Amino acid sequence: MNYDYDLFVIGAGSGGVRASRIAGSLGAKVAVCEDLYMGGTCVNVGCVPKKLYVFASEYSSHFEDAKGFGWQTQKTPFDWATLRDNKQEEISRLNAIYDDLLGNANVEVIRGRGRLVNSHTVEVNGEHFTAERIVLAVGGWPFIPEFSGSEYAVSSNEIFDLTEFPQRLAVVGGGYIAVEFSGIFNGLGAQVTQLYRGELFLRGFDDEVRDVAATEIANKGVDLRFETDVTSIEKLPEGSLRIHLSTGDALEVDAVLYATGRKPKLTDLGLENVDVAISERGYIEVNDQFQTSEPSIYALGDATEGMALTPVALEEGMALARYLYNNEPCKLNYNNIATTVFCQPNIGTIGMTEEQARAAYPNLVKYRSHFRAMRHNLGGSKEQSMMKLLVDGDTDKVVGMHMVGADAGEIMQGFAVAMRMGATKADFDATVGIHPTAAEEFVTLRDPVVDD
Ligand SMILES: Cc1cc2nc3c(=O)[nH]c(=O)nc-3n(C[C@H](O)[C@H](O)[C@H](O)COP(=O)(O)OP(=O)(O)OC[C@H]3O[C@@H](n4cnc5c(N)ncnc54)[C@H](O)[C@@H]3O)c2cc1C
Repeated sequence: MNYDYDLFVIGAGSGGVRASRIAGSLGAKVAVCEDLYMGGTCVNVGCVPKKLYVFASEYSSHFEDAKGFGWQTQKTPFDWATLRDNKQEEISRLNAIYDDLLGNANVEVIRGRGRLVNSHTVEVNGEHFTAERIVLAVGGWPFIPEFSGSEYAVSSNEIFDLTEFPQRLAVVGGGYIAVEFSGIFNGLGAQVTQLYRGELFLRGFDDEVRDVAATEIANKGVDLRFETDVTSIEKLPEGSLRIHLSTGDALEVDAVLYATGRKPKLTDLGLENVDVAISERGYIEVNDQFQTSEPSIYALGDATEGMALTPVALEEGMALARYLYNNEPCKLNYNNIATTVFCQPNIGTIGMTEEQARAAYPNLVKYRSHFRAMRHNLGGSKEQSMMKLLVDGDTDKVVGMHMVGADAGEIMQGFAVAMRMGATKADFDATVGIHPTAAEEFVTLRDPVVDD
């Protein structure tokens, strides 16, 4: 049978762009449809604008610390509109780059929402396109539960572009996105309250890391309220919002950010016309080759279950394209993927948490260091850093690495290579440090911690 395309990709986000670009460059006839923005979540309402705002938020502590180094700084006003508009300009530049990348790989870009008509046909703007294979790279969408006043809450999609800077912000949620936005707005000068219904935020991260991060974030001025839920939100006549809490308290704020999770964006995708299995948790089910239960349809990235991270979606897109059009093996190794929470200070993590490592390795040896980074000795900040290595005592292999401290994201990337290669504690010990840095702590940890 003749199709219009070899591959039709729905969604031009991290995974979809990578899959179509690589497939196109390998000679396949490819089209990708996108109904919102080129580059998807990461470029438009995720990693990129978030990191730009993290940079912006760090200046306040730098201005403060500069005094100890002799800089006579005045209180410097912050202008939200400048940050927001400059961010938008940068994103428009990136959107154009994504268009060019696809054009250069001979990928046809079709603007509009894609709907599956059958296992080989996608409809966009009323037009039907047939393809031998279809990839669902539709990503995720923020989820705000419905309750009285939930319409006043904004999601991470809107928070970047608020018209007015919220002087008082409530952030609801305990995942990494919630924690990052608390840090951003706190650094930009807002009075931030973070509300989380669980005992401690960042579930899934190493427990000690979660504790240290909570202490440091609270010391920076975020009002952390755990075991606290929102019961309703009321709009007051003068425009501010009153949040009623499960504790019986109420809180008045200018904006409420709900960062309580994301769900695959599957509405109105035409899934009823095909035989694509969806898991109980609402994700598209795939095998190791990203194939759904409908053999001609594939899915990857945030629409499938797994680590919802841009580099993961990119790897999946690349692996799928090479598998389909270059005969390469497809199975990805998801172990030891380094991640960072861009809060202040950063959290960087690779491999197992201490809880996982203790369950897996009976002879686990733990190394840990708490210290005040050199910069703060003159700067005056009380911020503490923590680094920890988890080693399997039987093989000497490093099975987990964690850091809470400035630039943890930058520091951990290199160590992720070492862990991927199976580095042992002896390898770390034999590595000469770079002095004076915080990162050298990782290669000078000598005394195991007898557990506390
Ligand atoms: C606030 C925030 C911060 C984040 N920070 C980080 C970070 O620091 N590091 C990191 O690695 N990850 C981060 N992420 C996660 C990262 O953005 C995602 O994991 C990544 O974008 C997933 O890529 P994807 O291709 O699966 O989906 P997406 O990038 O979401 O792309 C899906 C695309 O499909 C389009 N689409 C959906 N349905 C249709 C349809 N029917 N027709 C046409 N188009 C459609 C959407 O408009 C979208 O452009 C962050 C996410 C958020 C929300």
